[in-house]
Amino acid sequence: MLRQLLRKILFDNSCSMCGKNRVSQGYICKQCDLKLKEMSFLKKRNGLYYIYLYSDFRDVLWDFKFKNRRLLAENLKIYIKDLIATLIEDEKIDLVIPVPVSEKRRLERGYNQVEEILEACKIKFESIERVRNTEHMYNLKSPEKRRENIKGAFLIKTDCSGKRVLIVDDIVTSGATLMELKEELESKHDVAEVVLFTLTVVRKYFKK
Ligand SMILES: [Zn+2]
Repeated sequence: MLRQLLRKILFDNSCSMCGKNRVSQGYICKQCDLKLKEMSFLKKRNGLYYIYLYSDFRDVLWDFKFKNRRLLAENLKIYIKDLIATLIEDEKIDLVIPVPVSEKRRLERGYNQVEEILEACKIKFESIERVRNTEHMYNLKSPEKRRENIKGAFLIKTDCSGKRVLIVDDIVTSGATLMELKEELESKHDVAEVVLFTLTVVRKYFKK
């Protein structure tokens, strides 16, 4: 019993997407590979670029974030590398900034999954830090309160002035963090344009 359990933990080679088929190389089985290739194209809605609906991609992201399958990034680049590169070219992006995770979460996981993906895709980026957790923006109605709330939430050392900046996230739910970062860049860093991109987005985001 114990031996079986250990085997499962140490030699788990089930596909990250379907959780059923065994894989000998990487983390995605042949069937899911075909499915992913069909699903992987860039979409834009409500000012947000995205590739997958979260519901289609949940298990892959879960494995990546919580099962310590860090090398999944190498698998994912097959599907997304060209899409991000094209977006950067089409939108004439000067600077790519991944959404930072809180220090607590980074220490728990040992890595920032968005940065892992960008590194695997060989896309240059500038890391920023989240120095303070903020209240959710939708709780704050007045512009002053919102500005107050984001004041100093992120530590951005890079010179962003006049640049077209691409913010990259892995999952967008309410969009609050993206908006916070966008507002901070626009109000304090004199950027030319902020473009938003996420690997996955929940369906509910579009129903706001
Ligand atoms: Zn599979």
